[in-house]
Amino acid sequence: MKKIGVLTSGGDAPGMNAAIRAVVRKAIYHDIEVYGIKYGYQGLIDGNIEKMELGSVGDIIQRGGTKLYSARCEEFKTEAGQQKGIEQLKKHDIDGLVVIGGDGSFRGAKKLTEKGYPCIGVPGTIDNDIPGTDFTIGFDTALNTIIEAIDKIRDTATSHERTYVVEVMGRDAGDLALWAGLADGAETIMVPERNEDFDDVVQRLKRGHDRGKKHSIIIVAEGVGSGFDFGQRIKEATDLETRVTVLGHTQRGGSPTAADRVLASRLGAKAVDILLAGKAGRMVGIQNNKLVDHDILEVLDQGHMLDMDMYKLSQELSI
Ligand code: ADP
Repeated sequence: MKKIGVLTSGGDAPGMNAAIRAVVRKAIYHDIEVYGIKYGYQGLIDGNIEKMELGSVGDIIQRGGTKLYSARCEEFKTEAGQQKGIEQLKKHDIDGLVVIGGDGSFRGAKKLTEKGYPCIGVPGTIDNDIPGTDFTIGFDTALNTIIEAIDKIRDTATSHERTYVVEVMGRDAGDLALWAGLADGAETIMVPERNEDFDDVVQRLKRGHDRGKKHSIIIVAEGVGSGFDFGQRIKEATDLETRVTVLGHTQRGGSPTAADRVLASRLGAKAVDILLAGKAGRMVGIQNNKLVDHDILEVLDQGHMLDMDMYKLSQELSI
């Protein structure tokens, strides 16, 4: 292997830059040329490809977003789109590809691998919804952004004795909501993996209120539904003064935390290592603080699991 490519695809996540940097530097360290493909698979189809040098990734480890930009590309889901991508890889003599992104991006990587182009997936998404790794790049930063926001919301919730519903991201996964709820001592956490009984939520809020609790924080994962709808239902059922905050895309930005920078550096470098070792169609991950790699499809077919022990703990601590 003489030349490899790297791209970021799907939803962006803080720490993707640190992962790009690790891929580029690790490859150059091994005398391999690296090509950056801009705008994910769309850029691959369009041939938006340029050589990266050591300096191309200077001063980016601390920056959010992705220097290579990201995109969603419907055309790449088709055979014709994938073929166009392969033609571009051939044209640039690129022998292997590192794909930094979420499960959709990994499926694209698997397709290319099946067509003879070895790809390795690096899990980059704030949602932490990829099986085969304890953490994805960006999760820790998004979590800390949520915590900072909820701490502020709690100040005003206390002053005005209000109930706050805070909607957080996570797509179909409740990890961000659960971890944020535990870290912030939220009174209630609503995750898509658990069908929480609405009457129980109401009873718990009322019990807390009767006990003298003047304010409450309810965290709702976006996978459960609209925070505004939930807030309205709470207001109607409890008569408590209720406000709703949707944190939205602030969760996707910002300087990555140290944990995300280190994780991204380790996973990016590991991806290059296994590509050079001749592996293909694999994703890299971290489990029990050890770097691992798994077959992409086998892992994605498992589906994401929420840590139910943590969920139980959150309930025990928010009685
Ligand atoms: P994420 O990678 O964050 O999960 P998406 O699900 O939007 O984001 O996927 C990103 C891109 O990956 C898609 O826009 C598409 O180009 C490509 N992709 C997704 N699923 C497939 C698939 N089954 N086959 C080929 N490419 C895919």
